[in-house]
Amino acid sequence: MSSLNFNTNWQYAEAPENQDHIELKEQYELFIGGEFVKPTGKKPVYFDTINPANNKKLASIAEASTADVDKAVKSARNAYDKYWSKMPAKDRGKYIYRIARMLQERAREFAVIESLDGGKAIRESKSVDIPLAAAHFFYYAGWADKLDYAYPNRKPKPLGVAGQIIPWNFPLLMAAWKIAPALATGNTIVIKPAETTSLTALKLAELIQEADLPPGVVNIITGAGATGAAIVNHPDVDKIAFTGSTSVGKIIQRAVAGTNKKVTLELGGKAANIIFEDATIDQAVEGIINGIYFNQGHVCCAGSRLFVQESVQEKVIRKLKDRMETLIVGDPLDKNTDIGAINSREQLDTIQNYIKIGKKEGADFYESSCPLPKKGNWCRPTLFTNTSQSHRIVQEEIFGPVLTVQSFRTLDEVIDKANNTYYGLSAGVWTDKGSKIFKLTSKLKAGVIWANTYNKFDPTSPFGGYKESGFGREGGLHGLSAYLKF
Ligand code: NAP
Ligand code: MG
Repeated sequence: MSSLNFNTNWQYAEAPENQDHIELKEQYELFIGGEFVKPTGKKPVYFDTINPANNKKLASIAEASTADVDKAVKSARNAYDKYWSKMPAKDRGKYIYRIARMLQERAREFAVIESLDGGKAIRESKSVDIPLAAAHFFYYAGWADKLDYAYPNRKPKPLGVAGQIIPWNFPLLMAAWKIAPALATGNTIVIKPAETTSLTALKLAELIQEADLPPGVVNIITGAGATGAAIVNHPDVDKIAFTGSTSVGKIIQRAVAGTNKKVTLELGGKAANIIFEDATIDQAVEGIINGIYFNQGHVCCAGSRLFVQESVQEKVIRKLKDRMETLIVGDPLDKNTDIGAINSREQLDTIQNYIKIGKKEGADFYESSCPLPKKGNWCRPTLFTNTSQSHRIVQEEIFGPVLTVQSFRTLDEVIDKANNTYYGLSAGVWTDKGSKIFKLTSKLKAGVIWANTYNKFDPTSPFGGYKESGFGREGGLHGLSAYLKF
């Protein structure tokens, strides 16, 4: 229980987000060549997408077979040859601006659907996912006719057809990260969202159709791993952009070895969040909470390994537990909710299994005491203290609201500990001293390092990993190069 002894008998009144303006179809088809088409074959296959907050079905989604993937790639190739590669860059930019503006206009609808389908708190989808997705389209729209300035005397050219595969944790945002730079650089696209969160990508398909993009420039096809593999293995795809787990990233790298396909891989992470004794502790505690618990810990760059300087460890843990006690877990569409539903039953099982492993490994377990709804997939914010570097919960990506805590005494010690991981996606540092920040940012092997903040994103800033977190950068000028040849 909290050391503040909260009276937990009272709760905020419900503040549900209005859903009346949402239009969902019963069945969604594949978006190929500018049209919504049924999967090929006599018996097209459909799968259910569910709302993880109550496990009720939201819609049926078409499953693209290898033949459908081939159709989508042909349509993208045709659009590349016929329209997109011939269009003046300025006009390409106009289309991307149009998508950005329409997304902004329909932000509420997209936010609600994102929360319904994926389980994230509406506060997050409204204030993070959808505005950032629109910002990505705005940012890359601006680059479309300025590539010659970005790469003077290098005559950049598009690659052709880009195959893109994305995960379920930031469905629309990941689609924007992939689609916007590919379009700005003159490529055409076949993209597949994750099986559990296809709805906002399909809504984006409707928006792209309304925006009147030439048919086939963006093809959005749904399905599971086999559909993704068919995109990766298609001989007429010039570039694979993948965001997802390290294990699938490795399969993709093997599959494209020896081909001419260009690849970028954005994979898993196990970020260190490092608190020094001279940090502003209350601010750091907010950063820890934001780093691991929001979005249910379904964040590749989540600050899942906390390192606290020994002299302030007790104070930080006490304040952290108090703050954890105030977090509300529940209905993703309630505006008061801090932590929504775990994306799928399967992911909840994975998280619960790691919690068991952590207890067996001998770490001390703590979870907040908030009530959980009866139906749906839920996990309270949790933490493990008394952990060691060799514990599996410290080494492996859990992808849920589970934090491990370790202490350190010196700067060199924490650098060694933080770098002792297969991953290298991100890290955080909290200190009053600029010198420590500079030393850490040069010594930590992580693609992104936040100082006195955490999980801050901006389209102008490149993002990507080292080691088993992948290679290539998305965002900023770097994000353009990944779709160009010189
Ligand atoms: P995942 O299982 O690797 O799936 C990612 C995508 O790949 C999904 O669309 C999936 O389809 C598809 N897929 C599965 N098997 C495939 C195969 N053999 N060939 C081609 N595609 C295949 O990852 P996830 O569970 O969705 O997402 C969580 C992971 O993503 C975490 O490890 C997280 O760290 C990582 N992530 C990284 C970043 C980053 O920027 N570095 C950002 C977000 C997430 P289905 O899901 O439909 O089966
Ligand atoms: Mg769903």
